[in-house]
Formats: sequence, structure tokens, C-alpha cells
Amino acid sequence: MFLEPHFKGQRSGWIEVICGSMFSGKTEELIRRLKRAKIANQRVEIFKPRIDTRYGESQVVSHDENAVLATPIDKSEKLLDLTEGVSVVGIDEAQFFDMMLPEIVQQLAQKGKRVIVAGLDMDFRGKPFGPMPNLLAVAEYITKVHAICQHCGNLATHSYRLSLEESTVVLGEKETYEARCRTCYHMGNILNLQSENKEENAKTIK
Ligand SMILES: [Zn+2]
Repeated sequence: MFLEPHFKGQRSGWIEVICGSMFSGKTEELIRRLKRAKIANQRVEIFKPRIDTRYGESQVVSHDENAVLATPIDKSEKLLDLTEGVSVVGIDEAQFFDMMLPEIVQQLAQKGKRVIVAGLDMDFRGKPFGPMPNLLAVAEYITKVHAICQHCGNLATHSYRLSLEESTVVLGEKETYEARCRTCYHMGNILNLQSENKEENAKTIK
């Protein structure tokens, strides 16, 4: 578990990245850290890209419906103006931000802020997602969280898309994506067919 660093005489802020596949608990971990900062009486603000409108306009919501208020912004540059007087800056769904984000969060850290960034490390093709690889390179602390593979129960690192949609950004929930381990991810839709057969068999048995 991540424990907040406690350096006496800390002269700058720092960057933490929480990454992983879908259903890995990234947002829950972000919310956990922000709640702890609030308990410590620190001024906390949360931001998310405007593109993510699955839930309420101004909320960061994890899959377990733990919700906190977040400000949607369309450009990472806006963070510079919106974080005056804020000591802990939370950023959710960072993979959807523009490529300036790593530079902007470094400026925030340089100004003494603690920046906690959560996002998908890989897209559904298994490729590094948007600004995430660059954020991982410049962060002081990285936490990779894992989901559980729905097919074999091993640790899941990949987000497998069940639909045939080709665009990189398809927002969705359990009906659109599955968390899979490396092996099951590469088995592709053979696994979908197997589970459909299982359901069919179950129906026949009844
Ligand atoms: Zn698996």
C-alpha cells in the first residue's frame, strides 16, 4: 500500500502516478489518497478531462460508486490557473489529456504541489495510452494496480474490448470491456465464444 512520504524540509512537491487496466481500482486508490490529504487539512482539488462524461459533469466516480466532485477541463494548461492555493492536485482519467500534461504537472510539482495522477497505462490495443508513458517517466512514485482476469483469475493488466469499435476512445463499462491477463488478452474472442457456449450449455441443462 502507498504511504505518503513525509520528508522534513521538503522543498518541492512531487508527482505520483496510479496506473493499471480497467477495473483495477485506480480511481478508488486516487480517492483514498485524496481523502487522507483532506483529513490532514490540506486543500485538495480534483480535475478530469472534459471528454469523460460517463457520469455526472463534475464528479469522479469509481466503479464502486465512491464519488467525489471534480472539475472537468478541456486543456491541461488550465491546471496552472485553477490550482492557486491548492496543495494536493488530483487528476483522473489522465490518459485522455493532451500531451502537455507531463510538462504541466512538473510545473505544479516545482511550485510545491503534490500531484496525484490516475489513468489507464494501455489502450485496448495494448499500446501505451496518450501522455501516460511520459507521466510515468517523470513521476517520483508509481503504483501499478491490477484487476483480476475474468477468465482465469490471474492478475489482469490488459483492457480487452468486447465490441468491434475501432476508435481508441470508447467510454464504457462492463458491457464494453473486460480485464484480462496477458495470456487471455492474446486469446482474443476465442474466449468470448467459449463463455457463450458455456451459457448455452447452462440453458440446455436447465
Ligand atoms: Zn487470464
